[in-house]
Amino acid sequence: MTGDMLVVSWQLTRRCNLECQYCLTDSCPSLNADKELPTEECFSVIEKLKVSFPGCMLILTGGEPLLRKDIFEICNRASENFFTVIGSNGTFLTKGIVLKLKECNIKGISINIDSLNHNNEFERRILSKKLNSIKFLQEQKFPFIINTTIHKGNISELNQIAEFVYLNVAFLLNLFFLVPAGRGHSLYNLTTSDYDYVVSNVLDIKEKYNGRLTINTKCAPYLIRHTLEDPKNLKVYEGSGGCPAATNYLCITPEGEVLPCPFFPLNASGGNIKEKSFNQIINSEIFAELRERKLKGRCGKCEFSYLCSGCRARAFIISGDYLEEDPLCPYIPKGGNKLKEETIIEKGGTVYGYKKSDKINIKWTKDAEDRIKKIPIFIQSMVKKKIETRAEKIGIEIINSETLDKIREEVSELPMFKRFRKD
Ligand code: SF4
Ligand code: SF4
Repeated sequence: MTGDMLVVSWQLTRRCNLECQYCLTDSCPSLNADKELPTEECFSVIEKLKVSFPGCMLILTGGEPLLRKDIFEICNRASENFFTVIGSNGTFLTKGIVLKLKECNIKGISINIDSLNHNNEFERRILSKKLNSIKFLQEQKFPFIINTTIHKGNISELNQIAEFVYLNVAFLLNLFFLVPAGRGHSLYNLTTSDYDYVVSNVLDIKEKYNGRLTINTKCAPYLIRHTLEDPKNLKVYEGSGGCPAATNYLCITPEGEVLPCPFFPLNASGGNIKEKSFNQIINSEIFAELRERKLKGRCGKCEFSYLCSGCRARAFIISGDYLEEDPLCPYIPKGGNKLKEETIIEKGGTVYGYKKSDKINIKWTKDAEDRIKKIPIFIQSMVKKKIETRAEKIGIEIINSETLDKIREEVSELPMFKRFRKD
């Protein structure tokens, strides 16, 4: 069994030049590289990934991955085999490094920005380094996204951050709902009553930028409940159907432990990749039980649990049981039948990776299928569905390479994509 792992997050190091309050890996400048996988072992992990999860998207992150001396060797080897991106704190980028990442065929980079305001000289310098990095990325037309962790200290800034991302031509803004992992534990101050307010604020921001900037929410699987309860939210929802931990997503730590997602602590490891194969690890008790999702408490009774399932890492960190209810969700389930993806589709929403959506009777030629296979596997079915819907609308029954060119032309005329064509 190979599993359906679509995204693998690989923390290459715990070292970092910063010490952010929300850091899930407890990274800081005083750590050394002693326990990190050496270069050759990293190559062997890539070989194992090729066998078990061909076609997955690989996120090389940390700590700060650009601190590793062998980072470009690892990037090269990874991107020969996978759609590979980097997760960075954005303080190291120079024109030279951006060019090197391009040469290594890295497809994009994420930069963390959780505030555009600063309280002291240190914060001002860090922000200015990040803004400089963004300038280099723009100059080299290197795709980048911004990751923002939402906590009590920046709730009021989310509008400002979204506008900044929009104006700076990043592809996407990921809004992470803080999970109390690592140092994030000390920031775990969003209460269940804040929670509904934050979600509706985020949904308003998504609506405001709809069609102009993609805004994804992470680690708040309950968004689907708000979406299905209020149809106005459906048009801004493009979801994957709940928490992906252990089903479509896993994380490799700097020491080689394999976790259901980056926010789980080390005692949730399914095994170490130096000792076991990925197949053994994804069949470990924790991975198997998380896939099975026999949830407890409110999540177990909830009619949304199939689509949401709560944040399993948050449940584990707070209660010690990864199958327990998610303590941040304020919802009291009504019970009844579990809602499935069909409900989202019927109401006009989109679901990533939803396989039963091909009610449209359209055929694909082999060359067109081959072209679609070149895009990251985790968005293939969504892109296919969008192309089929468009083809049906314009009366095309067979999708070939010319159809794809025609639809791509149309898409590139949309205001959101035109922004990326600035020369
Ligand atoms: S367990 Fe929580 S943090 Fe991890 S992928 Fe699921 S929702 Fe996100
Ligand atoms: S009770 Fe659990 S499954 Fe239901 S919406 Fe809340 S987190 Fe999701």
